[in-house]
Amino acid sequence: MPVLTYQDFLQVAAHKLSNSHHSNSRHAVLIVSFERFPELDGILGFTTVDKIMQQLSEQLKNALNLEDLVSITGRYQISCLLVDLLTNAHAMLATHKILRTLTLPFTLGKQKIMLTPCIGVALACERNNTLDQLMRNASLAMHEARQEKELIKLFTEKTEDSPFSQIDLWSDLSNAIETGELHLGYQPQVNVANGKIESTEALLRWIHPQHGPIRTDKLIEVAEGTILMSRLTLWVFHTALRELSSYRSAGLNVGVSINFSADDLRDPELTELMAQGLSIWNIPPSDITIEVTETTVMNNHAHILDTLYSLKDMGFKLSMDDFGTGYSSMARILELPLDEIKIDKIFVNRMTTHHKHERIVDSMINLAHRLNLTVVAEGVEDTETYKRLKTLGCDVIQGYLIGKPMPLADLIRTINNQPNKVPPLKLA
Ligand code: C2E
Ligand code: CA
Ligand code: CA
Repeated sequence: MPVLTYQDFLQVAAHKLSNSHHSNSRHAVLIVSFERFPELDGILGFTTVDKIMQQLSEQLKNALNLEDLVSITGRYQISCLLVDLLTNAHAMLATHKILRTLTLPFTLGKQKIMLTPCIGVALACERNNTLDQLMRNASLAMHEARQEKELIKLFTEKTEDSPFSQIDLWSDLSNAIETGELHLGYQPQVNVANGKIESTEALLRWIHPQHGPIRTDKLIEVAEGTILMSRLTLWVFHTALRELSSYRSAGLNVGVSINFSADDLRDPELTELMAQGLSIWNIPPSDITIEVTETTVMNNHAHILDTLYSLKDMGFKLSMDDFGTGYSSMARILELPLDEIKIDKIFVNRMTTHHKHERIVDSMINLAHRLNLTVVAEGVEDTETYKRLKTLGCDVIQGYLIGKPMPLADLIRTINNQPNKVPPLKLA
């Protein structure tokens, strides 16, 4: 059977499953999703990504048995029904076979693309034997695999009860904005030239009433792509400005960086609401840096570029976060009205042990300075790295060496307790 259309897959799969209730045959549903495909949409275009999905589904079809069903069931998602398995273990063997096929570099013209597949598996059993249940369970397992950065996850009863089920977390997070479960951690940034803490990055924190602290990258993943994301960003923006304004009246000025997602930059009301925030809290926009990642900027590029220019015109500073880790080309980065780049911690962490990493950091600093951009190094955990970065001319340092994200009151106390405002660590 060829790769089926979505409609045909639903019909044929439901038919196969209902017929099997009378026999002892075992079936399984697999859902394969591709994590970085939204980025590829921005780089290669929708039509090319559609063609890649088509080719991948053919590859899967060839890797499976003749009677198994394969269909593209979502923008970046392929579903399979494996039929008449001898044992449940055969479902996992087939899944690993699929994974091997999908983790080989995918050839597109002269280019080779590494895919990042993630597979959820649901086995049919007495309780779960309709197509709807199996698709739902495989989807939950796939989301759990993605959150836990695993490649394959088998659905179990535990998956269903998991506190990290996307849907539960999403609605809890939606309430958390109102119930005061969210707060901000402020991570200090030191100006290398004078050794003073002059700025900070505001990082979102959520303490869930039942599950305790939730990892920030996990909660952002839940919000991204939904209306929650820009609500959260506005909450972060207002909270950071409100908290900072209370210290400004005491004469203490620190700049603050705030992380923005692609959803934020697509929200037509955003700039208006941010302008209101500035006037409510009376903070100059030049003290606020908006951090975006390369991935954010690659998605829906033209519109996002307009928003970035509007923010720049309003007086905000713009920073390229996680610099060097994304897909973007240098030409695209040069189009952006940037003030700063943040060198990602994967380069910084290894620069004292891996010579190549140090050379990359050195080149990034030189490049940024030639473009008149400020350079922030993040993830600085030891004095040796700090000293090396200072020698290389890095402007600002952020990392556990200076301090972990903390409540603003603690950060202000740290700044005030430094004799003559020299940081506790003799780094300057
Ligand atoms: P990011 O923007 O790259 O933030 C830096 C992350 O590195 C933070 O993790 C910070 O705690 C961690 N970090 C800082 N110094 C060190 C160090 O020396 N060593 C190591 N190993 N880690 C260090 P966190 O707070 O868990 O945030 C993770 C990511 O979640 C952030 O990465 C950012 O992408 C996202 N995020 C956090 N807050 C927000 C927010 O308000 N809005 C949005 N859109 N994203 C946010
Ligand atoms: Ca950041
Ligand atoms: Ca970063």
